[in-house]
Amino acid sequence: EIMTEVVILGAGYAGLRALGVLQKSKEDIHVTLVDRNDYHYEAADLHEVAAGTQDQERILFDINDVVKNDKTTFIKGNVVNINREQKVVEVSDQPELHYDYLIVALGFVSESFGIPGVDENALSMVDVDQALNIRKHLEDQMAEYTRTQDEEHLKIIVCGMGFTGFELVGALVEAKPTLAKLAGVSPEKIKIVTVEASTHLLPMFPEKLADYGTKQLVAWGVEMLNGKMIKAIKPDTVVYQDSEDKNDLAEVTAKTIIWTTGVRGSKVMTDAGFAEKRGRVLVNKDLTDPDFSDVFIVGDVAAAMDEASGRPFPTTAQIALVMGHLAAENIIHKVNGEATKEFAFKSLGTVASIGNAHAFGLVGKTTVKGYLASVAKKGIMDKSLLETGGFKEVLSKGRFDFYH
Ligand code: NAD
Repeated sequence: EIMTEVVILGAGYAGLRALGVLQKSKEDIHVTLVDRNDYHYEAADLHEVAAGTQDQERILFDINDVVKNDKTTFIKGNVVNINREQKVVEVSDQPELHYDYLIVALGFVSESFGIPGVDENALSMVDVDQALNIRKHLEDQMAEYTRTQDEEHLKIIVCGMGFTGFELVGALVEAKPTLAKLAGVSPEKIKIVTVEASTHLLPMFPEKLADYGTKQLVAWGVEMLNGKMIKAIKPDTVVYQDSEDKNDLAEVTAKTIIWTTGVRGSKVMTDAGFAEKRGRVLVNKDLTDPDFSDVFIVGDVAAAMDEASGRPFPTTAQIALVMGHLAAENIIHKVNGEATKEFAFKSLGTVASIGNAHAFGLVGKTTVKGYLASVAKKGIMDKSLLETGGFKEVLSKGRFDFYH
């Protein structure tokens, strides 16, 4: 019998979900999984590591724990190129990988939109190292305050108030007492400022609900500058447009500036010549590449059209899991000479946490707020974790800690 070789690029939510489905299949399929790290991380929890409210070990798990050795080979390495004509993938310091079917699940990187000074003067938060770097930076600033008494060290600016910004600010509010202790000050001395281009925050939520989130943060002492487009980041300084007038620029300063102003798909998509926009490819209904039917594209490098809204679905962990699942099933269909299925998505709900015990969002058409919403959020995230890893991880990471 002929073995079908499937290569999966990326061990994020989408890639690991696809792996799980393929490993369970009865077909003669061998899988090669490639990732630059030998661990999977919960990208949806990076903000907690950055704020120091969660240790990194609790958001990491070993890829080898989910790899079945009789079915799968795991390769640690950087994907540098994909040649879809030749059906090969180039991985740094590794022989070329040949595939019959490819699943591209390479995830996201930070997007600077070409705004000057972002890379040099702001901290981004798209992987574990960067999240840890933010945590260390914050701790260093607190120590620096004890030496200099310069209150700039106690200030934190968060650029961009999408979901990531909101959740990060929530975690930072929660981290205030710990940070303040390091600095030897009272918690209210730690100042958090946000700068956001839009005046209508979290547009996917009804306005009342987004307002609830905003009011909660303001009540916790966060200073929110909305309707202020960031134009440049200078050392310790965010430069933004203060009114309709393009030349009306203002500045806000802090020793910590965090960039959560949006993401794009992996640069590999651009380098390898995919039909992409900001690293995302508008995929066919069965999640195949519009140019190559043996290539599936899933997660944050994929844009699947939502017929209901006429716009692509957003990039979320939940959607990545459903995409990864379907891509693997469709490969099995193809192996068996069957028709592929179309992507469909029914949201479990969208809930933004603000700290560990507060959240707000929508579950179906129902608005959820406060403590109960944070329980709903944990439920949604546990389901994600179950689908990527398994029950063992859910238990070992103890998301329901506060129950015991
Ligand atoms: P985003 O693109 O959703 O938000 C970025 C924010 O930055 C926007 O509000 C935008 O107006 C603002 N912005 C952009 N350029 C700016 C500039 N020059 N100056 C000032 N503000 C600027 O990005 P994100 O928050 O990283 O989210 C990425 C994806 O992940 C989204 O699809 C989001 O829904 C998803 N996500 C979901 C959850 C959740 O479900 N709980 C949590 C985090 C992220």
